[in-house]
Amino acid sequence: MAVGAEVAVKRRRTSPANGNDAAAVESRDMRLQQLVRELLTLLGEDPEREGLRRTPLRVQGSLSFLTSGYRQDAERLLNGAIFAARSDEMVVVRDIAFYSLCEHHLLPFFGKCHVAYVPNGRIVGISKLPKLVEMFSRRLQVQENLTTEIAEAIHDRIRPLGVAVVMEAQHLCMMMRGVQKQNAKMITSSMLGCFRTDAKSRSEFLGFIRD
Ligand code: ZN
Repeated sequence: MAVGAEVAVKRRRTSPANGNDAAAVESRDMRLQQLVRELLTLLGEDPEREGLRRTPLRVQGSLSFLTSGYRQDAERLLNGAIFAARSDEMVVVRDIAFYSLCEHHLLPFFGKCHVAYVPNGRIVGISKLPKLVEMFSRRLQVQENLTTEIAEAIHDRIRPLGVAVVMEAQHLCMMMRGVQKQNAKMITSSMLGCFRTDAKSRSEFLGFIRD
């Protein structure tokens, strides 16, 4: 069982294609439920009391969903959705809502993601950009890495002239504990290609995402 955890960690940045074997999934789910039961006990609760009896099952289901990005990869996600195109005009998708879990506290951080790229002979089906944001969000993350991973995946697969990703998020680990700053937003960005080298492209993009 400890091996399972190790595999999950190694899968972090590689292809998780073998994560769907039914027997392995079932045994992982049972183990997760057991761990949640143990966690409840250690927190001073009685996992057998009415309100908590199904909690291990629910937490396992919810955590599996919130980390389902480990069992997807960009290659498969974008497969068949990249098309030849003549346009070299900036494509912007703004206000993509995202929810992720911080890898330091396993608490949610959430907000909006804005993505832009300048095509270089290839475009991607527009629904794929939010899907890509979702895939990387549904892993344990820090916002800085999440932003970079989205930008690099677009850069590597679509080979555009440039990619820009800006994420603005609120972190429950900052709001509920720690400094308890309620309205603080963290903003991160990753600029590649022309967005890095050309101030005009960058400011055009920032103009598009301004409220
Ligand atoms: Zn945190």
